Amino acid sequence: MCPVPSEKRTLLSRSTPFHFRCHADLPCFTQCCRDVNIYLTPYDVLRLRTRLGISAAEFLHKYTRHFLARQSHLPVVQLAMDPTSLYCRLVTNEGCSVYSDRPWACRMYPLDLADQEGAYQPIVNQERCLGLRETTVLTVQEWLDDQGVEPYVEMDRVFQAILPADLIACGKTQPGVGKLLYLAYDLDRFAELLKDPRFCSFYELDEETVKAAEADPERLLRLALRYIRGQMEELL
Ligand code: SF4
Ligand code: SF4
Repeated sequence: MCPVPSEKRTLLSRSTPFHFRCHADLPCFTQCCRDVNIYLTPYDVLRLRTRLGISAAEFLHKYTRHFLARQSHLPVVQLAMDPTSLYCRLVTNEGCSVYSDRPWACRMYPLDLADQEGAYQPIVNQERCLGLRETTVLTVQEWLDDQGVEPYVEMDRVFQAILPADLIACGKTQPGVGKLLYLAYDLDRFAELLKDPRFCSFYELDEETVKAAEADPERLLRLALRYIRGQMEELL
C-alpha cells in the first residue's frame, strides 16, 4: 500500500469537507483490500464471526494472525491476507463479502483517527485511492455517519476504559494482562465460563444477566470486559 507520509498528512475535523466516492467502476476497486494491515478490535471480531456464522476460535484461526505484542504484551489481532494473492480473504470481485459487518478500519478508509483528539487524517493519497478524485463532496461527519462507525467507536470506548493504568502511562503491561484481554476476542471461551453455575455464583452473576448476555453478543462482550477488568484488578 502507498500510505501518505505522516508529515504530509492534513488534519481534518468532523466538519471538514473532502472529495470522495468509492465505486466498482474505479480501476482501484478492491485494491485497498490487498496487502494491508487491518487491526481488529474485539467488536470487529464479534461482528465478523457472527456474520460468518462460525466460532470466535475458528474465525481467529482462519482469518487472522494474532499474538501478544513483544513490548506492550497487548493482544494484536490482524486480518490475515492470502499468502499468494495478498488479498484479504473476505474480498470478492464484487467487493467486500461482509460489507455490512466490515471492520472499523475498513469503514474509516481512506480516513483514520489522527493522534490529536477529535481529528482525522487521510491515510492514502489520490494516486492510490482514486475515489479521492471524484467530484462528490461530503464532510467527515457525513462520511462517518454513512459508514455506521458509531457502534464501533462506542464498543472501543468500553474496551479502552478497562485498560490498566500502566499500559496507558508507559505503553506496556504484564503478559498475564495481555492474555486476559485476549479473552475479549475469543468470546466463546467466556460464554463457556458462564455455563458453569459455580463461576456465576463466584462472580455474583445472576440468571437474568447471564441469559441476557447469552442472547445478545454485544452484552456478552460488555460482560466479558467487566469480568476482565475485575480479574486485572486482582493481577495488578
Ligand atoms: S482505493 Fe479508494 S476508491 Fe479505490 S476501492 Fe479502495 S476505497 Fe474505493
Ligand atoms: S474486510 Fe472487507 S473491506 Fe476490509 S479488507 Fe477485507 S474485504 Fe476489504
